[in-house]
Amino acid sequence: MDIFSKIAAGEIPSYKCAESEKFYAFLDINPVAKGHTLVIPRREVDYIFDMDDEEIAEYQVFAKKVAMALKKAFPCRKVAQVVLGLEVPHAHIHLIPMNSEADVDFRKDKLKFTEDEFNQIAEAIRNNL
Ligand code: 5GP
Repeated sequence: MDIFSKIAAGEIPSYKCAESEKFYAFLDINPVAKGHTLVIPRREVDYIFDMDDEEIAEYQVFAKKVAMALKKAFPCRKVAQVVLGLEVPHAHIHLIPMNSEADVDFRKDKLKFTEDEFNQIAEAIRNNL
């Protein structure tokens, strides 16, 4: 199992934001903005565009629900959706609360939060689902 599959299965701890039978959302451990969330399929697939039409549609609808909760929990101009996937070979959508393009700059220093703060951020998202 890859690292994100282990996270979705609960074998590696994560700050859970949302879950369904097929998908799982959790906080990015190296966030570029407060509330930076990763949305993954439980199924092991590396490249998002290898998903068939039905799966990618369901995945996107699930990510939309999380994005809406994220925007309520952390008001912002928009929630950015970014797919990179060069570091971890398991499809993942980054959802990032954004007020300016600088909020989605992956090259800048990442934010640091305590365990308590991460827990509060994830709880705020879950409470707005
Ligand atoms: P990408 O593959 O999209 O370039 O980057 C992978 C993302 O996953 C990074 O933003 C990184 O911080 C995050 N990430 C990598 N390993 C873990 C992990 O074990 N737990 C969590 N929560 N996030 C991770």
